[in-house]
Amino acid sequence: MSTLFPEGTRALVTGASRGIGAATALALAEAGCDVALNYRSSAAGAEEVAERVRALGREALLVRADVGDEAQVMAMFQRIRAEWGPLGVAVLNSGVTSDGHLAAMSSGKWQEVIGTNLTGAFLTAREATKQMYVDGGALVLIASTSGIAGRAGQANYAASKGGVIALAKTLAYEAAPRGIRVNVVAPGFIDTDMVRKVPPARLKEALHAIPLGRTGTPREVASAAVFLASPAASYITGKVLTVDGGMIPN
Ligand code: NAP
Repeated sequence: MSTLFPEGTRALVTGASRGIGAATALALAEAGCDVALNYRSSAAGAEEVAERVRALGREALLVRADVGDEAQVMAMFQRIRAEWGPLGVAVLNSGVTSDGHLAAMSSGKWQEVIGTNLTGAFLTAREATKQMYVDGGALVLIASTSGIAGRAGQANYAASKGGVIALAKTLAYEAAPRGIRVNVVAPGFIDTDMVRKVPPARLKEALHAIPLGRTGTPREVASAAVFLASPAASYITGKVLTVDGGMIPN
């Protein structure tokens, strides 16, 4: 079977227990990768994804860690390296929302989202990059259109995702001499648990602003992430690919 990735490519997906991360883990396995699946609390969901990866004839490694916790992140990367050797691909996808208008936002709500989305991206990108120093590799960070265009009620989330984009662009410059590419996928409204939390009236309003007239699927985001992580994108680094049905202007 011909695959997008060289035989034996090892990939990590953070937040792989459901939603976009689960779809990306499966798409990477279909494209020829063994996949380490990170999650924070949904052990059953992660185990189910692992079974599906194995059913595709690939290895799966379950690695629990809170991406915002430095000690847990270090332990996760040490375990992957000990069991598998260095990673070739990392899709840094874990994320949370905790919406509310800025004027009424507690610092706890701010820290919760920045801690997982931005500090989590920093810690996991740093450790993934170190594993790729010798053989090169590819990182894909999952940001959001909110981090480019802003969105009312999402100051914490938009700031975290704007930060992820800036982090990725900077790391792309720093890591290029080591043969490491770093790119971003910025989804719009994707049908996952995260968007199911959006009040129906707000979601209906948002759909009017989407030229393709619908929410996206996790698989449609996964396809973009797999492309950017793969050798098919070998001359692309430091870029942001929006997957949003045409919602925001370039
Ligand atoms: P989701 O269905 O809510 O899944 C979130 C995933 O992140 C879960 O696997 C969760 O693990 C994991 N996670 C959360 N906090 C974590 C932490 N501290 N450490 C490790 N893992 C953690 O969300 P999704 O919609 O698939 O979103 C995936 C990514 O896409 C996020 O970065 C999100 O911001 C971004 N995004 C989503 C949309 C959208 O419309 N859905 C739009 C733009 C961007 P557990 O299950 O174990 O909690």
